Formats: sequence, C-alpha cells, structure tokens
Amino acid sequence: MTNILRRFVRVIRVPVVAILLLTCSVNPVTGDRELAFISEREEISIGSQQYVPSQQSQGGQLKVDPELTAYVNEVGQRLAAFSPRQLPYEFVVLNNSVPNAWALPGGKIAINRGLLYELNTEAELAAVLGHEIVHSAARHGAQSVERGILLQTALVVTAVALSDNEYAGAIVGGAQLGAQLISTRYGRDAERESDLYGTRYMAQAGYDPQGAVQLQQAFVRLSEGRSSGWLEGLFSSHPASQERVQNNQQLVNQLRAEGFTGGDMGADRYQQRTASLRAAKPAYDAFDEAQKLIADDKIEDAERKLDEAIGLLPNEARFYGLKADIALMQRRYGAAIDLYNSALARDDAYFDYYLGRGMAYSRQGNRNRARADLQASVDLLPTAMATNELGTMALAANDRAGAKQYFQMAAAAPGDMGAQAQTAFLRLDVVDNPTAYVQASVYLDRSGRLIIQVQNRAPVPLANVTFELQGILGGQLERRPFSVNNLPASRVSEYDTGLTLPVDTDMATVRGQAIVRSAIVN
Ligand SMILES: [Zn+2]
Repeated sequence: MTNILRRFVRVIRVPVVAILLLTCSVNPVTGDRELAFISEREEISIGSQQYVPSQQSQGGQLKVDPELTAYVNEVGQRLAAFSPRQLPYEFVVLNNSVPNAWALPGGKIAINRGLLYELNTEAELAAVLGHEIVHSAARHGAQSVERGILLQTALVVTAVALSDNEYAGAIVGGAQLGAQLISTRYGRDAERESDLYGTRYMAQAGYDPQGAVQLQQAFVRLSEGRSSGWLEGLFSSHPASQERVQNNQQLVNQLRAEGFTGGDMGADRYQQRTASLRAAKPAYDAFDEAQKLIADDKIEDAERKLDEAIGLLPNEARFYGLKADIALMQRRYGAAIDLYNSALARDDAYFDYYLGRGMAYSRQGNRNRARADLQASVDLLPTAMATNELGTMALAANDRAGAKQYFQMAAAAPGDMGAQAQTAFLRLDVVDNPTAYVQASVYLDRSGRLIIQVQNRAPVPLANVTFELQGILGGQLERRPFSVNNLPASRVSEYDTGLTLPVDTDMATVRGQAIVRSAIVN
C-alpha cells in the first residue's frame, strides 16, 4: 500500500479503535462533563491529516498574497492565547469567493477570501476567528465524529471544472472525512456556544466585542440583499438572524459590565492589511464570471474573461489553471500542459494543476510524467479521476496489487466512473480471490443426481467458473472437475453435475463438497 493510502485508511479507523477508550471528561471550554472517545491526540491527528485535503477541496491557499495569511494568523493566534485549550492552532486564507470559514478538530482553521471582503474591521475578523476557535476547542467537530453522524453518507463531490464527467472531481478515500467535517452543521447549541465564548476571547484579547454584533448586523443586511451564492457558504450552517444579533448584544452588555470597555476595533489596520486583497477583487470577479460562462458552455467568452483577470492580476495561478482546464477539455494537450506549467510556476501546491497536467501527459502517452503528476495530485487531494487513471496505468505496468488499490478508491465515486472502477477492481480481484465471491455446495436430488448449488456474491456476472467436486465413494477419494460458463450476478444458481449416485446414498458418508478453483469477470 502506498503511504498515502495507508494514511487515509488509518484516519477512517480512528473512531472505531477509539470506542475502546471511552472516557468521561470535562469540556475545557464549557466546563460540562461529557463522554469522549476521541482523545486529544486523535483530535489533533484528524485535524492535521485532514487540513491539507480540506483546504485543497475548497480552492487551496491564497498564494498570491502571503502577507494576508500572515495577518489572519496573527489575529487568530492573539485570540487562541485565551482559549482554555492549547491546541496547535493554525489559520489560513483560502482562494475561494464564497463567504465561508471553518474549523477542523485540533485547531485547524480556514477563512475564505470571499468572507474577508465582507468584513470592515479587525474586531469583525476576530469575531469570525474566535467563533471558529471555539468550534475546535469545544470539540464540536470531534463530537460529530463520535456521534457517528459522519462517514455514513459515503461521498462528497467537489466542483472540479476540468472534467468530461461530472463526478470526476469526487473526493475519494479518507479525505471524505475532512470534507464532511467542514460542511457539517453543528446545531444551535454549539453555534450559540461558539458565539458566547468566541466573543469573550475577543474581549480578553483586547478587541471591542461590539465588533461581533456589527458582524452579525452586517450578515443580516447581506443575507437580505443576496441570493444563492451568498447562502451556500457560512450562512447555510450559520443563518443570519435578528435573534443572533440580540443574543450577541446581550453578551456584549454583560462583558461591558465585567469591565471589558475601551477595546480595539482596528478598522484602519484591517483596511490597510487587506488593501491588496481589495485591489484584486475585480480580477477574482472576472474569474468567477469565467467559471459561470464555462458552466453555460460559453467557452470563448470565458477565455476572454480569464485573459482580463490575468491582465489585472498576472501572478494568480488559478487563472492559468482554469485556462488549462479548458484546453484539456478541448483535448489540446500541449497547450494544456503549457498553461498548467504557468499555474505551477506561481503555485506548486494545488492538486488541480497536477491532476490536469497528469491527464494531459497520459493522453499523450507519456506514462512516467503522467504517473508522477497524478500521484502528486492524490497526495494533495485524492480524487476519483486521478485514482482511476493511476489504476489503469498500474495495470498496464503489471502492478496488479497497486491497480486494485487505486480502483478500489475510485470505486467509491458515484456515476459511471465509480461503476467502471468497481468493475476494473473486480476483474482483478475475482481472479486473485475466487472463493471470496463464489461459494458452492452439493446435494443429491430425489433421483440420485448430484446437484451443485452456486452463489455468486459479486455484483457482476462471472465466466469460466471452475470447481473440483470431491467425495468419498467406496472408501476412495474421488475428484471430478466441473465448470459453469456464465454465472449470473448476485444470486444463487443450481446445476446438474451429470453425476449420479444410488438413490439411497447418505451424503454424510460421501462427504461431498465443491471447491471453487477459478473464476473471471464476464
Ligand atoms: Zn459556527
């Protein structure tokens, strides 16, 4: 098993193993006693393993503006110092226009570029980050894993634009856990808890807690004026409401009474430190329009919009990446590779550029480069498209075990790609392990004919299924070959073996059995 596969398998097993370690502990944020079977070490391990794929599935980090990430991390660390749980807190800015923020267990937090546009002061940024810190510190994500809410819905689909198949961008493997964690709804109590303690940490860190109220007021205004795009991010899980504004105002009044007055709003500092992001907004708006145009099949218009974006912000890798995706869709592989190279020269840590370039190399017949690129994409974010292609390549190189692992990962995807990968996996595994799919027994019918009863557990028809019939006759072990040419999928079938025994034969003395020797997928 490759390291990446082994790591993902281990993540999925965490909750199962952890059930044995059920302990009663005190929630460090709320002081409540609660059952916990995921230890702090496991929380941190889930968070650090899922952090990269979760960032990748949401657009990757905003590489064009590292000072902005440094700023957000600075504000986040200033707040995290007042969290009662010392976790390895990290804060990143994602290259995503949807206004959103999320937290994984173990203190791994992200905020989208699209949300930063909507904030006006550092205190408002602190309110967002403080809220997410509490989701991590109070174990809201870990609790959803413990309650088994996650990993039951098998698959999460990302919007990867490059495909000729709508499910090509499906996340497969253990990274599904992170994808679920960042889109999960925690419930009203957890949200109220996050507002409550987040605003408190904010005040303790020297910010004016009124910033939290202003933030909620701004959200209410925005949610009234906007349509779908606004609702798909933060506000699908955090509906803006007058009630939330009022709750926060009460809390601020209480904090004022406790002596938290004269805090810092940090409006000028926020404007100054986010100035370059604001200046770049027209470029990202053009990019967003290009994506919509592609969805509407207006490819030439989309390319014009992308050229416009590149003219405004020539260092943003994503603009070249989307042009490359278009070239790949149009089967212009050389042009696609050149454009992916331009993207990678500006950001070498986004899965889509490796995935797309790997697919282009593969179509050109350059297997070594294709394999290296596809593996690099899987290391960042395992997708059905990459694992399926890697499986096909492993098989071409006679690496059956490797091919089986890749196909098995890709088989989790919905749609045609998942079904094809499933069949490709079975084609290999049925040959290797026929007894795992075919089970057989024999009995004598009333006229003394030896009947074989065969169960095909595979979801596909099998061919050339061979058996060895064995039995003790007259004290001698007798063996006879038997074969079935076409065994229907997922059912029990019976066949006359052509052998006849005396009608009064006792099968217990014959000890007849049918041993499965081989099978192939039809
Ligand atoms: Zn929340």
